[in-house]
Amino acid sequence: MSIFEIAKATVSVRQAAECYGLKLSRNNMVYCLFHNDRHPSLKLNEDYFFCFSCGAKGDVIDFVARLFDLSSYEAAQKLVTDFGLDPKPPNAAAMAKPKRPLIRQFREDEMLCFRVLTDYLHLLEEWKVRYAPKTPEDEWDDRFVEACQMLDHIEHLADILTVGSLGERVVVVDELKKEDKIAFLQDYVERKKEVAHHGEEPEKA
Ligand SMILES: [Zn+2]
Repeated sequence: MSIFEIAKATVSVRQAAECYGLKLSRNNMVYCLFHNDRHPSLKLNEDYFFCFSCGAKGDVIDFVARLFDLSSYEAAQKLVTDFGLDPKPPNAAAMAKPKRPLIRQFREDEMLCFRVLTDYLHLLEEWKVRYAPKTPEDEWDDRFVEACQMLDHIEHLADILTVGSLGERVVVVDELKKEDKIAFLQDYVERKKEVAHHGEEPEKA
């Protein structure tokens, strides 16, 4: 169905006139749009209009085109829009499809990033305490150094994913996904946690 057919099949001339604020007399007459009318002489029927004075006639699309000074196509479009008849043009339907998987993909990526960041954050917090030098002479443990260097940054990223706007979160997730950074970090955190729980010499009492 073309939008002409949809508009004509669904909206009567009378409905269009009423919708656009024309005052109809009791016998469905209005002032003619096509000549300088002194008495209402344009008769509005269901699917056509006719002027008893100047002889103008046409369908609902002609009527709306005349009323708003539009082309026939624009008039049909206006009717379809104003009366909520939008038949969902095929390109809109096609565009709606990839959108959802994209959003879903983003949510998944975001969840992964958040999980890895908080895992890493906890590890850093633990390291910062556990491997802090006990005396000024102690050599600094690499993990303590890493914790000092990275904590603020990682905390900042995790904060954005928690309270940031969608735009800010997209930037962070994009950045973390670049060159598989997040997969690398996930792997790194897993390995470090393994070491912390199994592989290391027991702590000195
Ligand atoms: Zn007329």
